[in-house]
Amino acid sequence: MDYKEMLDYVYTKVKKGESKDRINIIKPNIFFHGNKTIISNFEQFCNSIRRDKKQVAKFLYKELATSGSVEGGKLTLQTRSPITEDKIRKYMKNFVYCSECGKPDTVLQREDRFFVLKCEACGARKSVKL
Ligand SMILES: [Zn+2]
Repeated sequence: MDYKEMLDYVYTKVKKGESKDRINIIKPNIFFHGNKTIISNFEQFCNSIRRDKKQVAKFLYKELATSGSVEGGKLTLQTRSPITEDKIRKYMKNFVYCSECGKPDTVLQREDRFFVLKCEACGARKSVKL
């Protein structure tokens, strides 16, 4: 299934009101290369949590106090950081998982000056700061 098909699939499910176990989160594949940290399936991972890869990358640059680049679906961080996975977990805890029901079936939307994390499973809304 390619990304477009996946979107169609998700959309069909949403229309039918079937929200159970719709999201299949891909585990990020993190490894070191010299003084760099690489996430080889970064784009796939971001697609699986339905977040903008640029936004996730920006979060990681800030949290790890580094810079980097996304190219060919791969994220390269200009630092060798063993806490990269912890930071990804932090992102998911703050910006993916619903704080009410714990499900990852959420969307992040911009509303005025804030971002709102909306849960499609239980309907909870939480404003978050990016
Ligand atoms: Zn929820």
